[in-house]
Amino acid sequence: MHESMKRREFIKSAAFAGAAALMSHQLDNLEAVGAQQRPAFKPVVISSHNGLVATAKAMEFIKQGKDALDAVIAGVNIVEDDPNDMSVGYGGLPNEDGVVELDASVMHGPTGRGGAVASLRNIKNPSKVARLVMERTDHVLLVGEGALRFARAHGFKEENLLTDEARNAWLRWKENLSNEDDWLPPHDVETKNIGEGLKSALRNTGTINCNAVDLQGNISGVTTTSGLAWKIPGRVGDSPILGAGLYVDNEVGAAGSTGRGEANLLACSSVMIVEFMRQGKTPEQACLMACERIVKQTKMKRLLDEKGRPKFNVNFYAINKRGEYGAAAIWSGSKFAVNTGEAQSRHEECAYLYKREPRN
Ligand code: ASP
Repeated sequence: MHESMKRREFIKSAAFAGAAALMSHQLDNLEAVGAQQRPAFKPVVISSHNGLVATAKAMEFIKQGKDALDAVIAGVNIVEDDPNDMSVGYGGLPNEDGVVELDASVMHGPTGRGGAVASLRNIKNPSKVARLVMERTDHVLLVGEGALRFARAHGFKEENLLTDEARNAWLRWKENLSNEDDWLPPHDVETKNIGEGLKSALRNTGTINCNAVDLQGNISGVTTTSGLAWKIPGRVGDSPILGAGLYVDNEVGAAGSTGRGEANLLACSSVMIVEFMRQGKTPEQACLMACERIVKQTKMKRLLDEKGRPKFNVNFYAINKRGEYGAAAIWSGSKFAVNTGEAQSRHEECAYLYKREPRN
């Protein structure tokens, strides 16, 4: 058979198999609806490693028949409120001026809407404000002072988000500044020693991304963070950027990220992962492909190790409409949290591209 013919036939038969699988899935669902009690869809909640409690809470909501977006926001609110999680919400590590600035995004699959806030100060639940941007404005993203005024208008209480622990950590950093800020003098791409001591690629980051399929088969997600510690004020990472730190398509699935936001902003990986899943990749395969793309795109010498691999890490978490899930990172050693409704939330290992060698 001619090569292009074989390919066309393959695509046709694959499309047919896909359609048949979808039909039988829909029939299963119809039967399930007929059977009343059995859920029509297989619920799942996935999140970054810091989401054991969040995934448990979200699954509790889903089992009560609630919408996936209500579920994931209720889940991450626990982490935003937790002063001991220094990567999200209250207690998050501040920017280089010692001010906590938060980023968050939400996406609601069934209505195809999204909302986000960036560089939001003084409000500890940016995910709730992001949801209001989605529901109560004709915009998608509000930043800085405008986001704060919008939150105030909706009655959010302003508070100092800087805990003593976070302030002390900032103070230690400030006192040892040396080569650790984000300012770079002019230099060309090949220059290796500029910013080499700059630890931003490895510096303290953290975020929670949480995505879910509910009993109606609807999919939603949220990503919320205090971003990169000691960042230049106004720096926005990938978390509030739809397509980068979060993406949901109700027909396909959802994906989100944690890790070096700058790398992910340049790759827009979450929308890419959803598209890979649309083409038939499993959530884990799709996440690994996004990691590979970031590796390929990273060319700055200061970000590469002696073997040409990125020094930083980026993690992706994905689910599809069938309730399948997976996660991957550039480097080994990351975990994610998942709850499939049958048992308690658990940690599983992320797939990875490179194994971290044990340090001597
Ligand atoms: N992705 C987040 C950001 O770049 C940080 C993180 O997940 O650690 O703001």
